[in-house]
Amino acid sequence: MKPENRPKTQFDGREYDDYQAAQMQRRIEATIRRQKRLKTAYEAAGLTDQATAANIRLRRLNEKYHQFSKAAGLPEQRERMRVVYVDDSNLAPAPQGNIVTEGETFNPESAAVSLIKRLEDSPGMEDNMAVLRYYANHTDLVVDKTMAGPIAYNRSLDAICYNPDVPLPYGADRDGIFAHELAHRADKLWYGATQDLAWSTAVQEAESVILENVDAVESWFETGGKYADNAFFSDIIGAVSKGKINTPYSHSSEYWRRAGNCEREVFANLVALDFLFGIDTVPVEFGLDTICKVFREIIGRSGLL
Ligand SMILES: [Zn+2]
Repeated sequence: MKPENRPKTQFDGREYDDYQAAQMQRRIEATIRRQKRLKTAYEAAGLTDQATAANIRLRRLNEKYHQFSKAAGLPEQRERMRVVYVDDSNLAPAPQGNIVTEGETFNPESAAVSLIKRLEDSPGMEDNMAVLRYYANHTDLVVDKTMAGPIAYNRSLDAICYNPDVPLPYGADRDGIFAHELAHRADKLWYGATQDLAWSTAVQEAESVILENVDAVESWFETGGKYADNAFFSDIIGAVSKGKINTPYSHSSEYWRRAGNCEREVFANLVALDFLFGIDTVPVEFGLDTICKVFREIIGRSGLL
């Protein structure tokens, strides 16, 4: 049978052709290696709870690997997931920041306090951080148990809605997540990025450039890769590539097809990255340079100060 006529692998509501299935299997292997290193780093640092949580996630990933390989008819390659430590310098450092633990849900009591405290040492652009501080203090947080996700800015309610029954993405920075949602509100009420032609053009035009460099971009998210644990940058690559590049954290391909979502999420994720690490740490390769340039212009011309 010709490859294009072979039945596709169905898994978790997605379809994979042979190439995509092999890529997905390697992606899970990379995630398992990363998770093993994380677990070892937590154990070495005496962080017992985090090590236990990492171990639980590792078991789930192993199960997913088994199920996916079976569904795709691919042999399991467990030797590719072995992590060898030569000495301590080989250990990945435990990720820094306020990292979401397994099963943790959004806490409306501490979210603003934690974010505002973190702003004191933030390397982010001054105007942008002033806007975040303002919205952290003046945004309604509303329970919505009908939501599928843990937290989202609701544009019709003009509030950040959260579901206390759905855990936040494990391993992401909880202050970064809150900053991301506040940024959606700031985008709508203050910056108007998503309505800006220069912004949507920059986001749309980056797609073709980034798709010419899939291997280089994916290597950022492999074990030991520069952005392996960066949920926000990971979602930016998902948005810019419309889900065609697999990254550890991303909205679904279906979500990226809906008008305005790519523009909105790239903006909110860049605000989170500016807050956490500074906008200078965002790579400017593969079409991302124009996005970062327009981002700075939008923040600059909207200055609060
Ligand atoms: Zn978002």
